[in-house]
Amino acid sequence: MSTGKSSIMQKLLPTSLVGSLPKPSWLAEPETLWSPWKLQVDELVEGKQDALRIAVQEQRRSGIDIISDGEQTRQHFVTTFIEHLSGVDFERRETVRIRDRYDASVPTVVGAVSREEPVFVDDARFLRQQTDQPIKWALPGPMTMIDTLYDAHYTSREKLAWEFAKILNQEAKELEAAGVDIIQFDEPAFNVFFDEVQDWGVAALERAAEGLRAETVVHICYGYGIKANTDWKATLGPEWRQYEKSFPLLQRSSIDTISLEAQHSRVPMDLIDLLSGKNVMLGAIDVASETIETPEDVAATLRKALTFVQADKLIPSTNCGMAPLPRGVALGKLRALSAGAAIVRAELGGSEVPQEAEG
Ligand SMILES: [Zn+2]
Repeated sequence: MSTGKSSIMQKLLPTSLVGSLPKPSWLAEPETLWSPWKLQVDELVEGKQDALRIAVQEQRRSGIDIISDGEQTRQHFVTTFIEHLSGVDFERRETVRIRDRYDASVPTVVGAVSREEPVFVDDARFLRQQTDQPIKWALPGPMTMIDTLYDAHYTSREKLAWEFAKILNQEAKELEAAGVDIIQFDEPAFNVFFDEVQDWGVAALERAAEGLRAETVVHICYGYGIKANTDWKATLGPEWRQYEKSFPLLQRSSIDTISLEAQHSRVPMDLIDLLSGKNVMLGAIDVASETIETPEDVAATLRKALTFVQADKLIPSTNCGMAPLPRGVALGKLRALSAGAAIVRAELGGSEVPQEAEG
């Protein structure tokens, strides 16, 4: 399946963020999800670009190999994408249960959904201009999108997911044309709705990724370190085996890389065995704790994973996004990730590639 595709694995154990970084306090209220912007109109555009520049700079200074935008130009990883689509009424709200976990007031699908214009393509082009390193862009997955909406039009989760998959595919192809090397779909809902994952979830995800030359990633996690998620995790028992349902399906799918969380989570590492042949983006940084891992903590997690995945298929990463964390903590965690990967890379006999000089 990899014919004609660029490879993420240009370096042994290339490091990457899963998604978000905290935003600067002059742009949005820190340590808050859905935080409103503090700037307006032209100043907001410029402010977002400045924040994105800083995010790139900090990743490069920390030795991160695959650069992302840190989600500096979006308020939320799902909502911001949906806000740009037609067919969804953000004024008409209904209360629904999100990921079977917490109630939220959500917008309503009132008509056929469509993407009138590109959502993130200008931002991705801007990111492309900031670095020559491989860049990754995250989009929400179809199942996670439908789970944040009340559907009064299709009245079928599967049909709505399929429509979103087609829209995501349009956006992904334009991101690829703008120079994005790796497209990631965030599907935390895959850890909750197992029957739907089997019936249509993976098929919808493959539809979203159809025809891409860029590498594709699906990120499945236990969420940000917010209370609703930590309360839910407390009910999951001593071993978290949720991945056991989706991994065999994803192993047979067209998606190149599977992103999972492993640091301080109760996920048994041997579940990686279910992904044979795929690249594994492994969360070696806990985003639900403000304690900064030591490089040795990260290295220990990576070594454990290497019992189940070949070194040339392992991408050290964070468990999830870091938007709700204090900025200093997030940066410390980036440095720990990169230093931990360097320890294991050296043990494997891989040479350190010197960091790019700052321009
Ligand atoms: Zn996540």
